[in-house]
Amino acid sequence: MSKESAPLITGRVIAHLGQSLLIEDDQGKIARCKKRSRLEQPAVGDNVEWIRTEDDAGRVEKILERRSLLSRPAKNGSVRPVAANLDQIVVILAVKPSIDALLLDQYLIVCELQGIAPLIVLNKVDLLDEASRLETDALIKIYRGLDYEIIEVSALEKTGLENLRQRLQGEISILVGQSGVGKSSITNALLPDLALQTKVLSTASGLGKHTTTATTLYKLPEGGDIIDSPGVNIFGLANINEQTLAYGYREIKAWAEHCKFSNCLHIKEPKCAVKDKVEEGAISKQRYLRYLKLRDKLSC
Ligand code: GDP
Ligand code: ZN
Repeated sequence: MSKESAPLITGRVIAHLGQSLLIEDDQGKIARCKKRSRLEQPAVGDNVEWIRTEDDAGRVEKILERRSLLSRPAKNGSVRPVAANLDQIVVILAVKPSIDALLLDQYLIVCELQGIAPLIVLNKVDLLDEASRLETDALIKIYRGLDYEIIEVSALEKTGLENLRQRLQGEISILVGQSGVGKSSITNALLPDLALQTKVLSTASGLGKHTTTATTLYKLPEGGDIIDSPGVNIFGLANINEQTLAYGYREIKAWAEHCKFSNCLHIKEPKCAVKDKVEEGAISKQRYLRYLKLRDKLSC
């Protein structure tokens, strides 16, 4: 097939293997592709146009318009695209030993700033005792009050998973969480044919074994996709400055316009509406204290 005559095929990036991409065409056939040399880096979830250069291989020519892009900081201050066209970021936390609310806030800040809806999943609820149940309820109340959606599950006892499945159906989601929170257990429960999907991808990539460092899109039996990316377990605060940090807190962002100074950082400034609301109890004191803590981290 000569380069000029090869027709453009539409497809979707379903795995990023570092040097090459796996693209699925509309018929579900997978090809291993490089990208055109001057093309920006495609991300898993991208819809693309590509040309076939061999029976099972090709070259990506164009990235079609994205409705969202999750990227993460890379070396030398640049950012690397991780997943495109995400509908939601599923933040997984374990209720035991305790919910890491500071980490939760960091995830939520990234979601706010990247404009992708978060879904909070509290796993291991089978381990809750009376005291930790009360603590968890108090935390849930704060976040639901901010319009965040929270689902309780136990991957071990398989409770709450139906609820989670419903929330993932027809959507493109990425699961994030610290190691140990139960991300693999949940992924396995949601994807009964995970081993088969992985095998298909390994064959297509020609690598024999699908590498665990690859970002990969898996299909949910109910429709919808889960993108698994080992790189995004912790977002960190790179690329976040003091102004964007404040914007990452919904309630602070909402009240900031009532502060006397338009550049108010809600720390020591006079006539600060945010601090007033914290005093009145309309803004959660704990959330505000975490805001201050993260601000300190930024300036180190
Ligand atoms: P990952 O590192 O986030 O992928 O976490 P894993 O799925 O590997 O789980 C870490 C540990 O937590 C394992 O020992 C799991 O058996 C355990 N685990 C996962 N989900 C639950 C749960 O819902 N309840 C309890 N009690 N343990 C869980
Ligand atoms: Zn203020």
